[in-house]
Amino acid sequence: MSIETLKNHLRVVPDFPKKGIQFYDITTLMKDAESLKELADILYEEYKDKGITKVVGIESRGFILGAILAERLGAGFVLARKPGKLPAETVQVSYNKEYGTDTIEIHKDAITPDDVVLLHDDLLATGGTMVAALELVNMFKPKAAYVNFIIELVCEGLHGRDAFPEGTNLSTIMTLG
Ligand code: AMP
Repeated sequence: MSIETLKNHLRVVPDFPKKGIQFYDITTLMKDAESLKELADILYEEYKDKGITKVVGIESRGFILGAILAERLGAGFVLARKPGKLPAETVQVSYNKEYGTDTIEIHKDAITPDDVVLLHDDLLATGGTMVAALELVNMFKPKAAYVNFIIELVCEGLHGRDAFPEGTNLSTIMTLG
């Protein structure tokens, strides 16, 4: 299946969640069995030789393929969540959003320095969420950290890739915008 076919399975919803935002809805990709398998295959091929021991999925759409990939790679799965959702002791990082700040957290015992970590989310827009998640993961001093998105949004004034520290191992399946 080509990337173009995968793109055709995405649903674009104008003015969601507010006017002026073009929302890329991955639920139509996820519900299509062949597309879901293709995405998992692409990611597995990319990361199978990297020695990944933990996949960190970003709440909530990063949980879907993140968990599928973790199982295929023989790795564990870690949830990065919004504050107040995880039951045990957490570490957290706050970051600036367009309006105000946001926080992301993971369990304090989720990652060790022996881990090789892959962070995964559905879509890269400004990069703010994932940069914070990467910072959070790096607090555990893992052997290596990789970052992956299904979709990279690139348009005028939006180049989320540039928000990451130089040398970040970042890959995306498709570029839109
Ligand atoms: P950012 O931190 O700006 O890179 O935003 C990334 C997060 O917001 C991801 O978890 C996405 O699911 C979500 N997101 C931001 N913009 C969009 C969009 N246009 N369509 C779908 N999801 C989006």
